[in-house]
Amino acid sequence: MMPSSSIPQTPLSTHLVLVDALPNEILRPHVRVTPVLKQHLSSGQMNLTAIINTHHHWDHAGGNDKTLSDFKNLNLKVIGGKDCQSVTSTPKHGETFQIGSGISVKALHTPCHTQDSICWFMQDGDEKVVFTGDTLFIGGCGRFFEGTPAEMHKALNETLAALPDDTKVYPGHEYTKQNVKFLVTVLQNDAVRNLQKFAENNEQTQGKFTIGDEKDPVIRKVTSKENPVDVMGALREMKNAM
Ligand SMILES: [Zn+2]
Repeated sequence: MMPSSSIPQTPLSTHLVLVDALPNEILRPHVRVTPVLKQHLSSGQMNLTAIINTHHHWDHAGGNDKTLSDFKNLNLKVIGGKDCQSVTSTPKHGETFQIGSGISVKALHTPCHTQDSICWFMQDGDEKVVFTGDTLFIGGCGRFFEGTPAEMHKALNETLAALPDDTKVYPGHEYTKQNVKFLVTVLQNDAVRNLQKFAENNEQTQGKFTIGDEKDPVIRKVTSKENPVDVMGALREMKNAM
């Protein structure tokens, strides 16, 4: 079954140990997780075969070289966007591959936060998850460091919105509390109130909300814009200014 034991690193990235039946594999190790990986490996219940990154930023991929050197004998692959540290393979948009004995992985290119951003959709039987890096958070999205509102609109409202509604969302950071502070200024409804309550009572929210939860057409109205790309740009600017 997947996933996962999660290794929260707030305010830095969240790292997830992705566990399949056997052999097991690891997702996105980082310099800080080496001791945890060693512990899992020494238990004999896991194989470590690859690092998977969502984008090149240091707090997501900056530990690759250290991890590679810590586990030199394992010849780990580094799967991620083209600018990730020591990347060895960048699957094309829509390309799929398998890890472990039963987890299928699909690369979803979502350029905007960085041009090399890739969200990873994974399925194990009926269980579906997406690792969204800094593209989609619970109740918010990443900054447009290398992209445009049109690109984020496509990433969120076309690429990720096309995933099954029951796909659990695993973002790269635990930003839900901050996102809710902004959300309540632009939208007051039951979904936002529920999210606010959940974030107040839980330190970790990744994997607790789904793609279906992230869809809310009402939010458009607060920007007084009609075109969805303009809405995306206006919302991001409102949040940047907060
Ligand atoms: Zn980032």
